[in-house]
Formats: sequence, structure tokens, C-alpha cells
Amino acid sequence: MSGVRFEFATATRVVFGPGSLAELGPLAAALGSRALVVTGRTPERAEAARERLASAGVASIAFAVICEPTVGDARRGADLARAEGADLVLACGGGSAIDAGKAVAALLGNGGDPLNYLEVVGRGQPITLPSVPFVAIPTTAGTGSEVTRNAVLSSPEHRIKASLRSPLMLPRAAIVDPDLLLGLPASVVAASGLDAFAQLVEPFVSVRANPLVDALCREGLARSARSLRRAYEGDRSEAVRVDLALASLFGGLALANAGLGAVHGVAAPLGGMFDAPHGATCAALLPAVLRVNLAALSRRRPESPALGRYREIAAIVTGRPGADAADGVAWVESLVRALEVPGLSHWGASASDVPALVAKARAASSMKGNPVELDEAELAEIVGASL
Ligand SMILES: [Zn+2]
Repeated sequence: MSGVRFEFATATRVVFGPGSLAELGPLAAALGSRALVVTGRTPERAEAARERLASAGVASIAFAVICEPTVGDARRGADLARAEGADLVLACGGGSAIDAGKAVAALLGNGGDPLNYLEVVGRGQPITLPSVPFVAIPTTAGTGSEVTRNAVLSSPEHRIKASLRSPLMLPRAAIVDPDLLLGLPASVVAASGLDAFAQLVEPFVSVRANPLVDALCREGLARSARSLRRAYEGDRSEAVRVDLALASLFGGLALANAGLGAVHGVAAPLGGMFDAPHGATCAALLPAVLRVNLAALSRRRPESPALGRYREIAAIVTGRPGADAADGVAWVESLVRALEVPGLSHWGASASDVPALVAKARAASSMKGNPVELDEAELAEIVGASL
């Protein structure tokens, strides 16, 4: 490999720590006076944020996104924000709320319809103007969307999920407060936590890996490995919540700057074809992707640095410096079992869907980061083993 060269971009400002939501009022007041507040299916989770806005003199208009956001949700959110004269967008919720808010902020800054800018099925027009100021406040520990530059929208008519994407869409501020994870249900801890874990593994073995992202992945993997199972079993201590929130944040920083791999390459078409939450599908795919990637690398690319990366992951998660890559895979398989992650068939996928999923997965943008190119048979093996 030639000299090291990389770029790194993220939210303008990241405020992390238990209780950091308290900083929202002055932070928002410096950015605008009327905020569209995008929430997930439980708008009450954003009440504390709205109170902070009110006490800082920032008016707020609520907009709830019930499921993973669609093109229609982004359109409606932008219409509402325009009608209400919002000059600031805030999202307080899981990845769905944050992606929806990020899309709305981009549409307010650029005008027009989401389909003008959507990758794959839209007109692919570039986003050329800054978003209106956007503040992201995650209430789950999974997507890391608070520090990424894309918003995933589904287009039900095309049965696909695609992104609005631009460095101009990076949030103006991310407030990551582990106290907001109190009361998160175990199933959400499992799906979002394993998504975060996958988002630390895939950039670390990505063909675009770089030393800055590597450091984030090592730290994030160690924290996730020691705390995710405990969180699922009910431990909501501050130490555990901090670990989950950092693992999610670091995963977002990593994927936005080093790309992803086959877990996300297959998850993208799955999420478009079935009503399956992103985190749950990534969690179900992770063990088979690790196994198939390792086998393909050993067979075709025995010189690949990714093989050493998989050994390093194994050492981090098992705590044994001499662990080999297969020990890491076994550790992940046992974690996924312990967290009671349902297979893909739970979401309606079956063996007859494998060819269509494989064809779409090969074209998915996330697939480009995978450390080895997988053929159709290998992708079919991944989907088949994850049903
Ligand atoms: Zn993900």
C-alpha cells in the first residue's frame, strides 16, 4: 500500500455526556427561533428536548415519523416546516427520526422534492446548498446517524431504500446524552446495539479503512463487547449506557468516513422489500457475513490485511490476545443468539426471495467497502443462512 491519505468529516459540533441535553437550549437559540422537532413513534421521548427549547425562547412544531422514513414523510415534513416558518430542524429519536430530520433540513435548504435528489430511483440531482441548521439528538444507541452525511428514505412504490447524500447534510450539532437511553426496551437494545457493532466491524475491515477510523473502531468494539449483553440483560447503569452511546457514535463516525460492507449491502435491499427494521436485519446477517467473508478472503485473498483485522476483532471481543478470526465469529454468533435476534424469515423473507435480494445487494453502495468481492453463490449463502 502507498502512503496514508484520508479525509474525515463529521457534525460541526458533537456534545457527549450524561445530562448533555441540558445544553440544547442555548445551542438551538444560537441557530434559529422556530424549530421543527422530528420524533419517532414515541413523541413523548422528545418532551424534555422541547421543554429545553421553550425555556430558551425557541418555538417548536412537532412532526412524528411512525416507521422508517419514506420519501412521503420527508416531503410532508418539509411542507410543514415551510408552512410554519421553521428556520431550524431538530430530530430527537432513533435513526428513523434523525434521517427524516436530516432529509427535511436538506430539502428546506435546497428546495424541491426529495425525488429530485434521491440516489438510485430519483433524478440524482446533486445537493448544492447547505441544509438549514440541523441538530440531532439520538435516543437509541445504534445508527450513529447524528454524525453521518446521508438520510436513508424508503420509496414504497419502488420497493427500495435509497439515500439523500451530501457533505452539506452533516448535522450542525449532535447531542449524545446516554441518559436518554434509560428505559430503552431490550429488543431495541439488541437490534440497535448489534447495528452499531456491525458499523464498527465493517469500516474496520473496509477497503477504505484509515488510521483515524481504526482507532474509533477499536475503542467502540471494546465498549460494545463488554456492555451490549449486559444492557440486554437489563443493566442500565451509567457505565453501560455510556459504552452503548459511544459505540453507536463511533460506528457512525467510522461508516461515514470508511464505508461499510456486505451486512449493509444486503440489509439495504431487504429493508426496501420487507417491513424489516434496519438494526434487526443487520443483526441477523452479521454472523453469516463474517463467516463467508473470512472463507472468501482465505481462499482468494490470503494476503489481504483484512484477515489480520478479523483476528484483531477476535482478540478485542474475546479479551484473548491469541484468539484467531474464527473465535471472533463464534463470539459474535453466541452474542446474536443471546440477544434473541430473529432470523430474516421473521420479517417475511423466504428462500424464493434470495435471487432478487442477491441481485440488488450486488449493486448496493455499501457493498463497495466489503474487503473481498463476493460472488452470487456467496451472497446467496449469506442470505440463506440468515433466514
Ligand atoms: Zn446500520
